[in-house]
Amino acid sequence: MSETRSHPSELRFRSALGAIPAYIPGKPPKRVDGRPSYKVSSNENPYPPLPGVLRAAMRAVESMNRYPDLTSTALLEALSARLDVPVNRLAVGAGSAAVLYNLLQATCETGDEVIYAWRSFEAYPIAVALTGATAIEVALTADGRHDLDAMAAAVSTKTKVILICTPNNPTGEVVRGDDLQAFLRAVPVGVLVVIDEAYREFVREPRAVDGIDLHREHPNVVVLRTFSKAYGLAGLRVGMAIGSELVMAAIRKCAVPFGLSDIAQQAAIASLAAEADLLQRVEGIVGERSRMVNALRELGWEVRDSQANFLWLELCEDTHAFAMAAEAAGLIVRSFPGEGARVTIGEPETNSLFLDVVRQWNVHKR
Ligand code: PMP
Repeated sequence: MSETRSHPSELRFRSALGAIPAYIPGKPPKRVDGRPSYKVSSNENPYPPLPGVLRAAMRAVESMNRYPDLTSTALLEALSARLDVPVNRLAVGAGSAAVLYNLLQATCETGDEVIYAWRSFEAYPIAVALTGATAIEVALTADGRHDLDAMAAAVSTKTKVILICTPNNPTGEVVRGDDLQAFLRAVPVGVLVVIDEAYREFVREPRAVDGIDLHREHPNVVVLRTFSKAYGLAGLRVGMAIGSELVMAAIRKCAVPFGLSDIAQQAAIASLAAEADLLQRVEGIVGERSRMVNALRELGWEVRDSQANFLWLELCEDTHAFAMAAEAAGLIVRSFPGEGARVTIGEPETNSLFLDVVRQWNVHKR
């Protein structure tokens, strides 16, 4: 007769694990009073895949009994041509989050420090804690921007990496190119500066930093980009890093073997081929962003311009009640209790539904 031999209390986990906060995903949509609800909580692209992208993914499905190309050669070559960056300065992975995890694993350990602005992307504290390094969170300015002076002042001999999220999730603010140039001059070249540009394609502010340009002059700059947002492949998980050959090789060493499926690789290649159509959709989302901001201001709401595919509403103590009111109307927004709500720009009808929620809120709350 088999006997239980190990008791869970005998298992030993890494001490860093205790400090790791859980990643809270956006709530899935559900039916409210028999009507469908819309998820505007995860900054996804609202549009379904283009037929050509779908066909490429379906073709790849047929060979799912085989491992994918470990080196993602065809995807790297397509990206290299598109971005005008040599293949050895690129690395791809299962989402830019995976690439970030690999990069931090490659560089950080207990005793090291990683600086980032807060509030920002929720995966940062988790990814840093997993390495055993200490997170140094520098408060955003009152208007939701990175405080680069305070971040530079936080650099110590223990600093290994600085994460810059531009546009920042959730505030939608960008870092200016000239400000980042000055910042890079102030930071030791041995510190990696990671520019997370997950939402770059939605930026219309001409003074915003362009990480890919910047990385050509600064070997300590690593840029993260993704196919999840503008290119609409969130469910397939394709992200990339752009940086020095040395850093890219280190990222590859930490990657899970075959982490990027052939389906994902082929869909990403097809997305690059269909880029003109995809970027037209992005243009539509940017247009809807302006419509939403203008409408909210007309309704008396103070809302900042956003350079991403979402808006940030500083609702403070009203956040939870507002999120519940939106949910009752069929919209799942992302709420950060006590701080605010982040709302993804969706299809025009979804955005109009959101504005209706705001109108109703104004009537009942003001
Ligand atoms: N960076 C930022 C700032 C994000 O908001 C997200 C997704 N929410 C990511 C990275 C991760 O994107 P993915 O892993 O899908 O590429």
